[in-house]
Amino acid sequence: MARSGPSEDWDVVLIGGGIMSATLGVLLSEVQPDWRIAVVERLDEAGLESSHAWNNAGTGHAGLCEFNYTPRRPDGTVDVSSAVRIGEQFVASLLFWARLVERGALGLPEAFIRSIPHLGLGRGTDGVAYLRARWEALRDHPLFSDQEFSADPDVLAGWLPLMFHGRAGNEPVAVTRSAQGTDVDFGVLTRQLLSALDRRGGVVHTRQEVTSLRRDGESWVVRVRDRRTGSRRRLRTPYVFVGAGGGTLPLLQSARVPEIRRYSAFPISGQFLRTDRPELVAAHRGKVYGHAAPGTPPISVPHLDLRVVDGREALLFGPFAAFSPRFLTRGRLTDLLRSVRPSNLPVLLAAARDNRSLVAYLLRQVTQSPAARMAALRRFVPSARADGWTLMTAGQRVQVLKKTGGRGTLVGFGTEIVTSAGGSLAALLGASPGASTAVSTMLDVLAASFPERMPEWTERLDRLAPSTQAMRQFDPDRLRDAVTQARRVLGLVPVQTTVHQKGAAAS
Ligand SMILES: Cc1cc2nc3c(=O)[nH]c(=O)nc-3n(C[C@H](O)[C@H](O)[C@H](O)COP(=O)(O)OP(=O)(O)OC[C@H]3O[C@@H](n4cnc5c(N)ncnc54)[C@H](O)[C@@H]3O)c2cc1C
Repeated sequence: MARSGPSEDWDVVLIGGGIMSATLGVLLSEVQPDWRIAVVERLDEAGLESSHAWNNAGTGHAGLCEFNYTPRRPDGTVDVSSAVRIGEQFVASLLFWARLVERGALGLPEAFIRSIPHLGLGRGTDGVAYLRARWEALRDHPLFSDQEFSADPDVLAGWLPLMFHGRAGNEPVAVTRSAQGTDVDFGVLTRQLLSALDRRGGVVHTRQEVTSLRRDGESWVVRVRDRRTGSRRRLRTPYVFVGAGGGTLPLLQSARVPEIRRYSAFPISGQFLRTDRPELVAAHRGKVYGHAAPGTPPISVPHLDLRVVDGREALLFGPFAAFSPRFLTRGRLTDLLRSVRPSNLPVLLAAARDNRSLVAYLLRQVTQSPAARMAALRRFVPSARADGWTLMTAGQRVQVLKKTGGRGTLVGFGTEIVTSAGGSLAALLGASPGASTAVSTMLDVLAASFPERMPEWTERLDRLAPSTQAMRQFDPDRLRDAVTQARRVLGLVPVQTTVHQKGAAAS
């Protein structure tokens, strides 16, 4: 066994140091403080892949401005159930982070979260009618009651000077604005959570790559290679969570997990146009989400976001899709090829056959010229000039594909929890709605992995991070009070007014 190196025993091994493993690690350390928990991360530091601030858009998704959570019904009314669910899931995240801050378990909240209004943009007669119907359907819910609607050009120019000051043309437009929106640096948050886990006795191993997973009796054997020294060792554990982001599917394949035998994957990189110019940043104080073009996926929804990373402000516009065969931003060029097996090749082909509009969209995106990207930006910022904006590549999304009802479908636009071997292995596939809902997703992982322990854990978990089910038993006043208190602890002050910036139109 010299090649495998020494063996260590752990109660829990979390593969990958992203927001998901970090959240799960802290939750587990709360309910089972006596368990020995190890996190294994291949890079020099945790939170550098999808959870890193520049690899995602940093939107605290709460259903305030994203239209894909509020589809229109055939009768013209709007179904808001998904927006309410995402809103509740984000509340679980806020309450969890606030409880940890109150206890001094996390660092300063301003390092990872801040108030940035969330706005929805409806354009054209139909888009404005939809936006109004959406606002009317949501405004009586306690999580959405602060939302304002306006189609008045002066109000819009006050809210969003960069987009609407001196705007020409007579296209009908309207905007909803919620002052309780947030921007989150999930990379900083990941590292703060892992520091909290470390203080509770967990161990975070960086520069250690998991090379394979194997079931051995009642245990999992996790093979690890030290990326500095090349030395190898084995971690033996009764429970493993694969939170390796884009690296998850290959690890499940190495473990021969039967549940994913027919899953396939296809990587898509996200790109954004970015500007750091102070005069532009000063004239856009929000995150504005528009409509996805007909027939395009939810990841294509255009948005113009104010971001604050390492204390510096910038604007991002996108996303645009690009292709790279890597499954992680710092992955291998061979990742895609190595994931294709005789068992999953038909799924890859079926997904291409059954998602023609998506394939066409991706081809258009990959071949798009810089001028076409600027034209998309000018739909938001009419005066944008190419010299003010640079193209940056954000994170890799590994769209997981599977066959459902004979059709090749994409898991990647939702999140799927995979469990195997009686719940002793759990993994997360898919990327939406992502980091914002890490807490409720990890509560679901706990319920799927440890059903026999949940009766003992539930009371403690509900005090720390109430499940959606628990939250639905709150009356509206209790929900409002809980959110208000959490927001106060996190230093989230609603941004009520926007001062109009003169000269903002030159961009
Ligand atoms: C373009 C884009 C925009 C997005 N925008 C948003 C947004 O606005 N809001 C939002 O909430 N979410 C957003 N998301 C989604 C969000 O970024 C992800 O859902 C979230 O970061 C996933 O966290 P994770 O912990 O699963 O993965 P990651 O953060 O990728 O962590 C996985 C970790 O596993 C490590 N790893 C991989 N393989 C191995 C191995 N073999 N051994 C050891 N370690 C390994 C990696 O190095 C990495 O650190 C966006 C995603 C993309 C791509």
